[in-house]
Amino acid sequence: MNTEEINDLVEHQLSIWSEARKNFDALTLIGRKQLKIGDLGAIAQHNPARIRSTGAKTDAESIRKRECFLCAGNRPSEQISYEWLPGWELLVNPYPILPIHFTIVDKQHRPQDAIPLDMALMAEKAPDLAIFFNGARAGASAPDHRHCQAVLKSELPLLRLTERYHTQSLPSIISSEKFGLDLPFNFISAIITPDKEGMILLSLVTKIKGEDSLTGEADPGLVNAFFWMDSNGLLRIIVIPRRAHRPKCFYAEDETAMTVSPGALDMAGLMILPIERDYERINPDLARKIYEEVAFAGPFPEKIILA
Ligand SMILES: [Zn+2]
Repeated sequence: MNTEEINDLVEHQLSIWSEARKNFDALTLIGRKQLKIGDLGAIAQHNPARIRSTGAKTDAESIRKRECFLCAGNRPSEQISYEWLPGWELLVNPYPILPIHFTIVDKQHRPQDAIPLDMALMAEKAPDLAIFFNGARAGASAPDHRHCQAVLKSELPLLRLTERYHTQSLPSIISSEKFGLDLPFNFISAIITPDKEGMILLSLVTKIKGEDSLTGEADPGLVNAFFWMDSNGLLRIIVIPRRAHRPKCFYAEDETAMTVSPGALDMAGLMILPIERDYERINPDLARKIYEEVAFAGPFPEKIILA
């Protein structure tokens, strides 16, 4: 699937779905500002339509009480399901963060589990896209229905930075600590070669876990992952082990409160702020603090990498 086919697909969907069209058109008007956090050139985006996801109640009780919006029977009648890989449906996200923004949904209603290996096939099938995954406790607003998402890979600052600093002369799997950069959090970067070693590495990388900062327990649901094809035609993977689902300011009841709930795109350098006041207040220091609270600013605990 090349860029032209992707654009045609989105255009076709928007031509018959006025509600989604409205949200896509609104994207061109929303506020964006640079957030230079050390060596990460991040961007803050004021996106009011995302409040439904950022503020979503994802506790077990709330999830049980609502209808699953990813199940085919509960989707708006205008939403087209495109043939994708076996077992997966490709949907245009009606609440986009970027002009190309897909949700890739498991045909079966089953919980968000480990990082899906199929993401490797998706990245190969659409080399202009970055396929990304929010673990059940790392930004997924539907933790009860397995899904991933996709945007144009060129839009994501963290992926560009990784391609630049994780060169092929380095080991095929490394921690971003080895980049020697000032980053607000660390992550694991892997280059997957199309051979047996690559397959072993792929299996290893998808088992990386996060660690709950409250309990100290390793948790496979506390990760974000990105899969994409690089300019050399090799599969790249980033896994971001997390310490928490949301930062302290999300729960604060005083003037420090901010409605920010980082998922994969926020971690990739697009911090989404649905509330205007928060967007105006956000600055590199606050953004760094948010990243530090939900991910690992220092070295990783051994057990989350090899457990
Ligand atoms: Zn469902």
